[in-house]
Amino acid sequence: MTDLTKLGVAALRSGVASGEFTAVEVAEAFNASVAAAKALNAFIVETPEKAVEAAKVVDADRAAGKPLGKMAGVPIGMKDLFATEGVQTTAASHILEGFVPTYESTVSANLWKAGAGMLGKLNLDQFAMGSSNETSYFGNVISPWRRNDGSNAALAPGGSSGGSSAAIAARLCPAATGTDTGGSIRQPAAFVGISGIKPTYGRCSRWGIVAFASSLDQAGPMARDVRDCAIMLEAMAGFDPKDSTSLDLPVPEWEAGLNSDLRGKKVGIPKEYRLDGIDEDIAKMWDNGIAWLKDAGAEIVEISLPHTKYALPAYYIIAPAEASSNLARYDGVRYGLRDLPDGAGLQDMYAATRAAGFGAEVRRRIMIGTYVLSAGFYDAYYTQAQKVRALIARDFENAWKQCDLILAPTAPSAAFGLGEKTSDPLSMYLNDVFAVPASLAGLPAMSVPGGLDKQGLPLGLQIVGKALDEQGVLNAGLAIEERAGFTAEAEKWW
Ligand code: GLN
Repeated sequence: MTDLTKLGVAALRSGVASGEFTAVEVAEAFNASVAAAKALNAFIVETPEKAVEAAKVVDADRAAGKPLGKMAGVPIGMKDLFATEGVQTTAASHILEGFVPTYESTVSANLWKAGAGMLGKLNLDQFAMGSSNETSYFGNVISPWRRNDGSNAALAPGGSSGGSSAAIAARLCPAATGTDTGGSIRQPAAFVGISGIKPTYGRCSRWGIVAFASSLDQAGPMARDVRDCAIMLEAMAGFDPKDSTSLDLPVPEWEAGLNSDLRGKKVGIPKEYRLDGIDEDIAKMWDNGIAWLKDAGAEIVEISLPHTKYALPAYYIIAPAEASSNLARYDGVRYGLRDLPDGAGLQDMYAATRAAGFGAEVRRRIMIGTYVLSAGFYDAYYTQAQKVRALIARDFENAWKQCDLILAPTAPSAAFGLGEKTSDPLSMYLNDVFAVPASLAGLPAMSVPGGLDKQGLPLGLQIVGKALDEQGVLNAGLAIEERAGFTAEAEKWW
């Protein structure tokens, strides 16, 4: 029989539906590859029994001639930021270690309803704060990729959805959930040569997702190709009255709408993204992307997003501000860890629990966030950042007068080595430079593989679309995918 772990969402679903193989066989194949890949540290908790249990239901439904869901028979990885009933949910933090939710997040519930099964909870940057997965309390994920210089240096899988990206690239799961606050679906997808889409803010419910920065957080799928992302996004998205920012709109049939003919579409190339000293492999890949979209029929226009250079500083004020407020709930009373020194009072317990429970990056963000929200500095930082955010959204509004989509690199570099950026938080933050503008504006944005650099590492191309135009983004992604011919895979060493 074919190696089932080589198949993606669409192929697995159709193979199960046609009876070529059973959902239980699929679940067992992926369970085995998860069990054999401990060296990658991609999972915080493995749930092989859950994958098999869901598969049995699908096989029984098929035998009974019942209709099958969009993800029927497809086992997936769940980023450990989504609350899963009865399964530990930690956000990769010590403070939530041992927290077992009594409820299920809306997005994961939607996926189970669609017939998906859970292979386990995937590692991530702590509270989704990071770009390399190195802030996890449970140790960093190691990318399955290696440079071609024979050095065997361990590389970052990107972040914060680094467990998701590594697990898909290593074929431990055909697809996984991600969340993206300032690039956490797109940048890790780019680093390992897979696809991922952050939909329009509000498409996927935030209910039951551990909050980082609520006005930015958005869930989305990560998978091997564009079609698989479209299928999974359909299963994840939808109105949810439990999330007040959820969009009350029907979920489009993105998979059925896939069409890589881009005639009549205008694609904008933002000149401000051509940073001085841009990596030459990145610049080359971007040029290739432009040529591929032209070949697909699109007209290419140069555009300007004049406030781009303020996006990163604004993001690193707004996101920590919201985080400091969201993370105030971890006090040792209601969830997870409690550190109650002998003879201590309530305040001491709060302080001891939070000092022991949060990692360095999370503490840094809480401190930045409380500082920018404090009475004396609120206007100078937070109000100013909100104004910049409005200007960035306006830049995109103006751009849409000239084009329908925007093409840019996903990240300014290929995957970097573990430890290379940890001593300098600013250099880590700079890696998000191309990702955060679309987040601040709430726009759909996708990363698809664009090629390999000189070191033999994957690079990602980013497509940004108008609000609610996930279809346009997916279609441009498909046009690139068909022309890039990206088939490279990490050589198995784990
Ligand atoms: N790397 C960014 C940060 O550290 C984005 C994280 C994310 O999107 N969750 O905040």
